[in-house]
Amino acid sequence: MGIRGKLALLVPGLVALTVTGVALGVTEAQRREQTREMRQRHEQLLEAVGVTAAAYVAQNDMAGLDALVANVSQQRLDPDLVELVVVNQDGRIIAHTDPTRFNERVDDAFTRRALTSVDPVSERSGDQLRIGVPANAGVRWATVTATYSLQRLNASIARSRGIWLLGAALLGLVICALLFSGLYRVVIRPVRTLTRVARRMGEGVLDERVPPLGAGELGELGETFNKMAAALKAQRENLEHAVAERTRELSEANQRLEKLAVTDGLTGVFNHRRFQEALAQEVLRASRTQRRFSVMMVDVDHFKRFNDTFGHPAGDELLRRLARTLEQELRATDLIARYGGEEFAVVLPDTDKDVALAAAERLRAAVEADLNVPGAEHKVTISVGLATYSADGDTPQAILIAADRALYAAKHSGRNRVVTAASALEQVG
Ligand code: GH3
Ligand code: MG
Ligand code: MG
Repeated sequence: MGIRGKLALLVPGLVALTVTGVALGVTEAQRREQTREMRQRHEQLLEAVGVTAAAYVAQNDMAGLDALVANVSQQRLDPDLVELVVVNQDGRIIAHTDPTRFNERVDDAFTRRALTSVDPVSERSGDQLRIGVPANAGVRWATVTATYSLQRLNASIARSRGIWLLGAALLGLVICALLFSGLYRVVIRPVRTLTRVARRMGEGVLDERVPPLGAGELGELGETFNKMAAALKAQRENLEHAVAERTRELSEANQRLEKLAVTDGLTGVFNHRRFQEALAQEVLRASRTQRRFSVMMVDVDHFKRFNDTFGHPAGDELLRRLARTLEQELRATDLIARYGGEEFAVVLPDTDKDVALAAAERLRAAVEADLNVPGAEHKVTISVGLATYSADGDTPQAILIAADRALYAAKHSGRNRVVTAASALEQVG
């Protein structure tokens, strides 16, 4: 059951209890006050009756006494009077509103008390009130007792109680309505707002904020909610930022790794593996587009001797410089790789035999010019073997073998030269 349901039961219940209690308390006090007034009034009246009755008794005027009793008991004078009795000191009835009871002896507890008391006595039993007063005329001549019905009084009190309860119920309703609307504004509405925002936070929406809920505890709670949402949002953003940063670092590391995997460590050009991939791709592409491409095998002449003369570190440096020369002299679209040892291999896309030959010749001349110190005893040169994809059916392996054969031909025919493999490839095929 929600707060509203509980309040809807609790508030009217408490209000109903309170107002009913107040109404009953008030009417009970009214009843006591009215009974007391009635008793006093009747006591005074009876005292007056007692004086007159005493005078009749003193004169032994029983007819006068009867007349007095009849007169007093007339309904018009006192509609509540049930019976009026005058008893002598022995408790014997000497006058009664019911004449048939004359001379009867009355011996109930109340009458005995009235006979012995010098002051008025009274007793309430059920809805009757009994009052007894001494009848004095100098000395005590008799005792007057009267019984009054409380029915009229009780009926009037019941009416008054009904009016009170009705008023209390109406007041209770008004209080309920006021309390309820107040509680709705002060408690229920803020709590529902907090619940809504908390639910949205649970769903991951961290931009929602609790509107100001005043200065009380709920207002404080709302502010705490907002601070929490802001902190969560900041944390999430930090996390997202950190994740983005890590992802970027990871992808950079991956790129570096990928590059490492296809790069030759010494010279920085592509490695043997990448060359094989590129060659295979180029064969596929050329067979699809009917375009020519060429492959160049480059080998340093007498490199063993160079190493032996200048040492292996110098040999390494020469390989690095040769790689730079290859990059400078060839096109950016050509794929340069270190094939192994002091051999380099190049794939030259969209390059036919003549253009490849010109490029190889340019390269050879550049090596001769750039990698030598004038007057040096050892001359750095390269030999180049060339093969060009010519027809559907040429495999990567056949092209490589052709280029290799051309390279050997260059070596055998004196080194520092370029040989094309037109005939060599035909032999392979
Ligand atoms: P040729 O003109 O017939 O090609 O003679 P060459 O001496 O160049 O050929 P050979 O195959 O006899 O020797 C190749 C040498 O290359 C042997 C080896 O010491 C050297 N070499 C291979 N890889 C490297 C390298 O990474 N660094 C260095 N410094 N030398 C290398
Ligand atoms: Mg070699
Ligand atoms: Mg060599």
